[in-house]
Amino acid sequence: MARSEITIDLGTLGRNVRRLRGLLGGTELWAVVKADGYGHGAADVASAAVDAGAAALCVATLAEGLSLRRVLPGPRILVLGPTRRIREAREGRLELVVGDGPIPEDVPVHVKLDTGMGRYGFARLPALTPNVVGLMTHLATADGDPAFAERQLERFREATAGSDPRLTLHAANSAAALRLPSSRLGAARCGIAIYGLSPFGADPADDGLEPVLGWRSELAQVKKLEAGESTGYGRAFVAERPTWIGIVPVGYADGFRRDLTGTEVLVAGERRPVVGTVSMDSLAVELERPLEPGTPVTLIGDGLLAEEHARRAGTITYELVCGIRASAERATRVVVDA
Ligand SMILES: *Cc1c(COP(=O)(O)O)cnc(C)c1O
Repeated sequence: MARSEITIDLGTLGRNVRRLRGLLGGTELWAVVKADGYGHGAADVASAAVDAGAAALCVATLAEGLSLRRVLPGPRILVLGPTRRIREAREGRLELVVGDGPIPEDVPVHVKLDTGMGRYGFARLPALTPNVVGLMTHLATADGDPAFAERQLERFREATAGSDPRLTLHAANSAAALRLPSSRLGAARCGIAIYGLSPFGADPADDGLEPVLGWRSELAQVKKLEAGESTGYGRAFVAERPTWIGIVPVGYADGFRRDLTGTEVLVAGERRPVVGTVSMDSLAVELERPLEPGTPVTLIGDGLLAEEHARRAGTITYELVCGIRASAERATRVVVDA
């Protein structure tokens, strides 16, 4: 095996998309595949999402939109972030989000209102040009403060009241699509949930979602530390008694963050703690008994959730999965359809 193997299960992604579409009823699902599909591989997840019924794709940057357009000639693609490169957007048949300044012509535009995120977006609805196809806002607290999210939705409803019914209104992200029925307008922009990760940092199964990404490696070396011996930089782990240690050839350069010390991984199917300092290219696990080099290690998958690692690192799964490096020099990436 390579140092580690990242599996992307497009069958599971399709099931997540269909599950969300079931909840959304008549609201369109737009799949958010920015940041290389949250680290899962934008081209693969975008086509699987479209096959499962996503009506459009959303990216963050013009360059992401253009490279997705090269592999997917058909679907609508929205660029969520700001860009001044209007001619290239037009040539790539991309749709733009505009939240400030004049509305560019001859390109489909979604006008963004700032109803409480305090980031991009007009304070009030500007004069609309005929190329405007959508009105949108973005919720700051759909995952944790539904009352504030409802206030934002109320402001959005007021600001857009009486607008042309041919315009698509959209406000929901994954958390809102799952828990705030009033946010399900013309379309919902779902990212994290299509990857089977919980926007609430909980077990995705609570919302009927299954993780798409698996990350597996193996023990590269097994050794015994005598009492007083240590593993890794800074001697952050010192054995108190004779202790078996397994070294896994995955480190923070692969996306297994330094603040994941103390999290658990599965060694031969059993939960074992990561001990000592995570290095750039390796990490150590404490074993209960000597195991053979080559013993399978699951970093994410087989019931071990990315949410557990995120909690340990004091972050969110979004940041964790965006950081996993699937480049051929570091890992093997396998796309399956199970
Ligand atoms: C990233 C993003 C989303 C998707 O959010 P999730 O929580 O991943 O569903 C939706 N809308 C906008 C504007 C975004 O930037």
